[in-house]
Amino acid sequence: MNDAERNYAVHEQELLAIVHALREWRHYLLGNRIIVITDHRSLQYLATQDKLSARQTRWSEFLQQFDYEIRYRPGRDNQVADSLSRRPDHTLATIHQSSLNIDGEVLEMIKAEYDNDPATKQIITNGHSNYKVTNAMIYTLDDKLYVPSNDSIITRIIAEHHDTPLNGHLGEHKTFERVCRSYFWPGMRKSIRQHIQRCQSCQANKGSNQLPIGLLQPLDIPGKRWETVSMDLITSLPTTRRGNDAIIVFVDKFSKMVHLRGNNNDMHSSGRCPHILRHRCQAAWHSSTHR
Ligand SMILES: [Zn+2]
Repeated sequence: MNDAERNYAVHEQELLAIVHALREWRHYLLGNRIIVITDHRSLQYLATQDKLSARQTRWSEFLQQFDYEIRYRPGRDNQVADSLSRRPDHTLATIHQSSLNIDGEVLEMIKAEYDNDPATKQIITNGHSNYKVTNAMIYTLDDKLYVPSNDSIITRIIAEHHDTPLNGHLGEHKTFERVCRSYFWPGMRKSIRQHIQRCQSCQANKGSNQLPIGLLQPLDIPGKRWETVSMDLITSLPTTRRGNDAIIVFVDKFSKMVHLRGNNNDMHSSGRCPHILRHRCQAAWHSSTHR
């Protein structure tokens, strides 16, 4: 709930929960008979209440589209809804532990590899202020399992958090965020980035970030000859006897008439180009209009 919603009266908060749930699952619920069970008795009478606040009217209008019935069930009878949140052993700590749900096989591989990685061997024998060793496993101070530098273990861990259908080939940042909930190794981000760059599914299915290109915008058709002229340079040709090593190509967009002029590279690199072009263009225009 946002700040304003937190100030609603209790019955309105209860109603808000219903409206929110129906909005969220609207596509499943529309067209079906729904029974809403609440531990708030007054909501039963929403449909028959004659005085509604502006907010309630708005909600009631939204609720009209559903075929629903609100039934009252006292909180003490409604144990199913709250059984999870009321279990005393479900504290934050146990939730944290279960999120460190590491495959036993991976654990064994990690444990076996500690001896082969000089860095982890050092931590196990001498200890380190940034890590703690519990049951011959190395953890960071915030309870992440230290993974020794071994490509096959690291690849397996990243693949478990990226390649499986459940993980859906998320991008670098999200995959990193998932892996680092349970694991730590130096250069994690880099190895995750490399894994994703090599991931064939990601390469094959990568969505484009580009905006749609849009429709082709054809150029206007010129009204008369030599009104619109395109120009191109063909350069670095073998030098002719007159010293030309380039060709300027003029094409009239209306008649498609082509004029070719010899040129040399010095001309268009020396800044004389626009001047020359104007003369060439005029010449081309004259030759085609005065014939
Ligand atoms: Zn992928």
